[in-house]
Parts: sequence; C-alpha cells; structure tokens
Amino acid sequence: MSDHVHNVVIIGSGPAGWTAAIYAARANLDPVVYTGVAKQTPAIQLPGGQLMLTTDVENYPGFPDGVTGPEMMQRFQKQAERFGTRVEPRDIVRVTFHDTKPHELVTDKDETILAHAIIIATGATANWLGLENEQRLARSGGGVSACAVCDGALPMFRDKPLAVVGGGDSAMEEATYLTKFASTVYIIHRRDELRASKIMQERFLEKPNAKVLWNKGVVDVLSAKDEHGHEVITGVQLKDTQTGEVSTLEVGGLFVAIGHTPATGFLADSGIDLDEKGYVILRNRSTETNISGVFAAGDVADAFYRQAITAAGTGCQAAIDAEHWLAHHNHI
Ligand code: FAD
Repeated sequence: MSDHVHNVVIIGSGPAGWTAAIYAARANLDPVVYTGVAKQTPAIQLPGGQLMLTTDVENYPGFPDGVTGPEMMQRFQKQAERFGTRVEPRDIVRVTFHDTKPHELVTDKDETILAHAIIIATGATANWLGLENEQRLARSGGGVSACAVCDGALPMFRDKPLAVVGGGDSAMEEATYLTKFASTVYIIHRRDELRASKIMQERFLEKPNAKVLWNKGVVDVLSAKDEHGHEVITGVQLKDTQTGEVSTLEVGGLFVAIGHTPATGFLADSGIDLDEKGYVILRNRSTETNISGVFAAGDVADAFYRQAITAAGTGCQAAIDAEHWLAHHNHI
C-alpha cells in the first residue's frame, strides 16, 4: 500500500463523476477518478456510465443538434483531463471509512488507496429484461430504451404503438408520459394486477390511448431494416404467464421500466447510510453523507430525477462540498 494520501478520490465516470473531477481539478485538488470496469451485474455497467447505452441525447443543454451518449461522455472526460484529472480504469470493491485518519479504498486489483475526501458517483443501473435482441437494439438506437423521459420524444416514436414493460409507479409514469407521443401505449405486465399506486394507475388508465396487457411477459424483441438500412424494432413476442400461449404485438418502441439498481454493493458494511433500496442518503440538502469527508452525487443518491444534467449538477456540488471540507480540516 502506498502512503500517499489523495485529497479527493472520485468513484465513477458518468456525468456526476466527470463533473466533480472538472471542478476538483480546477480547484487544484489533484483528483483521481476510478472509472469502473465494464460488467453485467445483471444490469449493464460501463466506464462512462448509463449514457454509454444510448444513442441520441437531445435534452442536455449546449448541444442544440443533440449528441450521442458515448461522444458526450468522451467530451466530459477530455475536459476533466485537460485540468489534470488522473484516471484509473479500476473498480473500487471495498471501502473502510475512518474518523481520524484517511479513508481506505480497495480496487479490483487488490490495491489499497488512501484519501481524505471521497465522492461516490457510481450511479444506478437500469434493469433490463436480459434478452439478446433487446440489448442490441438498445445500444444501436433501434427503438428499445430504459428511459421514456430521455427518449420518448424522439421522432422515431411519434404516433406509433409503444410498449412499456413493468407494473410499478415508474412504469406508470413512463407510460403516461409516452401517451403524449404514441398512438397507443401498452403496459405489458406479468401479473393480473399492477404494483403501482392507485393514483398512478388512474393517471395512466384515464388516457384514451392507454391499454394494459395482463399476464404477459416479453420473450423476444422483433426487428427489421428500415428504409435507411437501420435495424429497428417492429414488435415484441409475448408469452402468456398463465396459458403459455405465444403471441406477437406490433410496436414501434419498447420501454423497459422494471426498476434501477444503485451501484452501492461495494459500500456494504462501510457504515454509510443507505435507504431501503440501497441509494446513498444525503444530509443537510447538500452532497454530504453521514461519514465525514464522504460525499455522493448523481443517480447513486437520486432515485427520482435520474437525468444527466441533474447528475452533473450534483457532481459540481460534491466537488465544492469536498473542497470546503478539505479546507475546513486543514488538508489543503
Ligand atoms: P452513471 O452514468 O450511471 O455512471 C456511474 C459510473 O460509476 C459508471 O462509470 C460506472 O462504471 C461507475 N461505477 C459503478 N460502480 C463502481 C465501482 N464500484 N467502482 C468504480 N466505478 C464504479 N439522461 C439524460 O439526461 N438524457 C438522456 O437522453 C438519457 N438517456 C438515457 C438512456 C438510457 C438507455 C438510460 C439507461 C439512461 C439515460 N439517461 C439520460 C439517464 C442518465 O444516463 C443518468 O441519469 C446519468 O448517466 C447518471 O449519471 P451518474 O454519473 O450519476 O451515473
């Protein structure tokens, strides 16, 4: 183990992590970003974060013509590196927080790193069905998404029948949002009743173009080439969970809304406060956690907004909070 103590280590390389790095580097804090490594957990986790799984990002200010998710994350990284951010392509697998001495972080290569301040920006991965065609079409912009608010307004989904998989509040919210653009929105649900609250169900069901397909699971995603030779979704294959009968539903888009998993497994037994779903709990309307010198930003601490701009915003806040904390504790 090296004796060197970093001022600030940032865990995660999505919008929150890179923004924290830009601010910390410009404040001469000499930050190090641990980017994470690619894995399927079963949700997909990638260096660069969840935007690596999408094509067009049209709602991030400053890109009037849109930008692809991977290009945007490359630009974030380049900007952070320009100010001297160091980048380590590693996962943090364990942490030990201390009151009076530097915090310890252990990487997937079993190296131990010391840091005065830590910014946790590990995000929350969207849960997918795990079907091969679903994954391919999601990555290629072929009409499969895990974020209706992000992608629903894209021209490819306008006036088409769309399917939403899920039965909870967020599935209802996504489906209700899509009724503004779609000809019909089908909720596909494995059971004969929804888990969502009554009010969320009603908000969806009162729309004239809302439909629920009960006792159905998606077993495959069907596709064909469009007039530009681009592979796009044409429908989903459904299996009845009661009778086993297989049927096809023609749709122009599939939105998977079966929840998110915050990437906080490595914080188990660390003493950091997590809520019942595993999201980091913040204190005092800031990015502070219950552990002195440990801050959190982005989707790992936000089960509600889950947008690149909000993640970047809290990344900025975390870097400023960390800088104040380091100064207050005479580390800088
Ligand atoms: P993430 O982007 O999830 O980044 C987390 C990072 O942490 C990753 O780099 C990961 O590798 C790393 N990590 C995780 N665990 C560890 C560990 N133990 N050690 C080291 N590193 C670790 N938002 C928009 O605003 N506009 C859009 O158009 C849009 N489209 C989307 C499309 C899809 C399909 C999805 C799934 C999401 C979309 N979003 C969009 C939401 C957006 O991607 C997220 O809100 C945003 O990426 C959250 O940023 P983050 O930095 O908090 O986390």
